[in-house]
Parts: sequence; structure tokens; C-alpha cells
Amino acid sequence: MPPEPRADRCPGVLRPHEAADGAMVRVRVPGGQTTGTALRDLGRLAQTYGSGLLQLTSRGSLQVRGLPAAVPEPFEDAVGRAGFLPSSTHERVRNVVASPLTGLVGGRADLRPLVARLDEALLAEPRLADLPGRFLFVLDDGRGDVEGMGGDLGYRALDAGRGELIVGERRRVRPVRLVEVADTLVSLALTFLERRTEEWHVRQLPEPLVLGTETALPDAPSPTPTGVVKEHLVVDVPLGLLSPVQVDAVHAAVGGGPVVVTPWRSLVLPDAAPARRDLASVGLVTEPDNAWSLVSACVGSPWCGNGRADTQGLAASLVRAGGPGGRTHLSGCERRCGAPVGQHVDLVAPTRVDIAELVLARA
Ligand code: SF4
Repeated sequence: MPPEPRADRCPGVLRPHEAADGAMVRVRVPGGQTTGTALRDLGRLAQTYGSGLLQLTSRGSLQVRGLPAAVPEPFEDAVGRAGFLPSSTHERVRNVVASPLTGLVGGRADLRPLVARLDEALLAEPRLADLPGRFLFVLDDGRGDVEGMGGDLGYRALDAGRGELIVGERRRVRPVRLVEVADTLVSLALTFLERRTEEWHVRQLPEPLVLGTETALPDAPSPTPTGVVKEHLVVDVPLGLLSPVQVDAVHAAVGGGPVVVTPWRSLVLPDAAPARRDLASVGLVTEPDNAWSLVSACVGSPWCGNGRADTQGLAASLVRAGGPGGRTHLSGCERRCGAPVGQHVDLVAPTRVDIAELVLARA
């Protein structure tokens, strides 16, 4: 008998994670595609039941923290009514990252319809409820921004109607038509489940999932630049923590229109360039090349019981001191939650002296 896979502890709405600041739930947002109204509704739920903050993750999900240990049923029901919980069995497998600007600016294809189709196809296949909660689908519209995210399965557009499958972390194989992509990815995910013993990811399987021409993928993603992009606006959310006033400002800027949560703790706000000043006034970062776009941190101490450092406070002081010279992530312990994919300065349980040295080294 093959060994049973280890328990999957990835949190979801119906499977909270117990943190030092209370229960935390993770709300999947396939492709980061949501709306100003849905974001406002979730923000209000965070205020009513939790700490009030919405936390953006490195996969474009949203987390609500500071909930009671027994997460109230009315909270779960309301998350469903806000559109974030279409399935109680498949909620944790809806891990889809897509090029945040797809269909708005650039790229070779508009992959927004594919995000919706893939999500529907995942939900429609009962066996996929068993996919690991960290299994990731990556849909790159050809600009090359997310294909290097280290996903399990994915697609990179070559033009509006066809592209290549991504199978595993660093390989691109087999040409495919856009209309076939959702079904093909579902079929490959099922094959992964059949072959899986203890593996969480396609790259860990002893044999390749499919045979075909292999091409190396980029080692890292390319974050969406902050600031105005044509009529649209990309705002950085410092430390990935959206406050109630910031959620309200986003809603005021876009109303019920689309909002895209990026995997870089920022938001794409279509047609919101005119609201730039209002969004900056509530602490969202609207300028390119700002220090916040280089600094990320896990929640650290005291929010996380494993934390040996106040990572958020230290990250804020690093930014106040002018920021680091390059991408930097602060972790409260060796688990390095939320660390970016690709090259970065990796600070584990840093002290104030470490931060001062980093600032001096930059100078
Ligand atoms: S890296 Fe460690 S301290 Fe930070 S959130 Fe993860 S477990 Fe907690």
C-alpha cells in the first residue's frame, strides 16, 4: 500500500487556522478577480467578526484574522453570500493566479474568461476536492509575469487563441488551444491525484506528469508595477494589510466594478487613475518605485505564536529609513510564510541591528 498523504493543514474559510491573534481564515479569489462590492462586503465582515483587516497573500487570496476560535456560522454564511464560497468541498483548491492586468493592458490574450471557466471546471469535478490546498494553477497571458511563480499546472498564451501548457515548476510543454485549457488542466490535476502518494506538488512526482518538449521557465515572477497604467491604477498595500478605511476608499474608487488582487500584495483598480490622490490619502501606495514594493513581511510576533520578531514593526522602520536596496522579506521564524518567489534578501527573526545594517549597506 502506498503511504497516505500527510494531513493538509492549508486554511480555508471552513478550516480556520489558529493563530496567536485569533482564528484566521483564507478566502480564495481565483485569478484575484473580484469586485469593489465583494471586497467591501468582506471588509465589513472582518470588522464585525474579526480584527477588521483584510490581509492579502502572496497568491492573491484574502485572509480575515482575529476571529473567535469557533468561527461563527453567520460569518461563513455571509462570506458565501459575498460570493467567496461557492463550494464547501472545493474551497481550498481554487488556487488560481493569473496575470493581474490581463484583458486591461498588454498581454497576448484576455484570460479573465479562462479564470472563470477553470474555476467552474474545478468545482464541477468531485474528485478534485482532494487536491492539496497548496496546489497552484498559473495562467499567464503571455507577458511572462506569473509563469515563474512555481505553480503546478498552468497556461501561457502565445496569442489570443492558443498557447502552451505549463506542467510543473520549470517546464512548458505541449501546445494547446485556449478553449481546451480548462478541461486539460482538470484532467492533468486528476492524473496528479492518481499518481500522488505523499507529494504536494507536480514537481515532486518521481515521474513527469506528461511527456513533451521541455523549456525552462523564468526563476521568478515579474510584479505588476505600481502606479498609473493608462486609465487604470495599481496600488500597493503596505504589509498586505487593508484597513477598513482603505477598503472604503477602494470601493469609492471603483464602486461595484472589478478589482484584481495581485500576488504582490497590491490591487489593480480598473479605470481608477483619477482616484489616485484619494487612495494615497488613506495610506495606499500609488507611486512606482516606492520602498513598500520591495518589502514584505509575515505577520510575525505577536500575531503568530511562532514569531520571534515583530516583523511588521521592523518592516515599517525599514521603509521609513528609505527601504532596502532590493526585494526583502522579513520572517518571524524559519517557515518564511509569504516569502516572495525568486531572489530576495531573506531576514529570519531579524533585530533592529539587522535592519540598521541593511540600511547602511544600501547607503
Ligand atoms: S514565518 Fe513563522 S512567525 Fe511568520 S507567520 Fe509564518 S509561522 Fe508565523
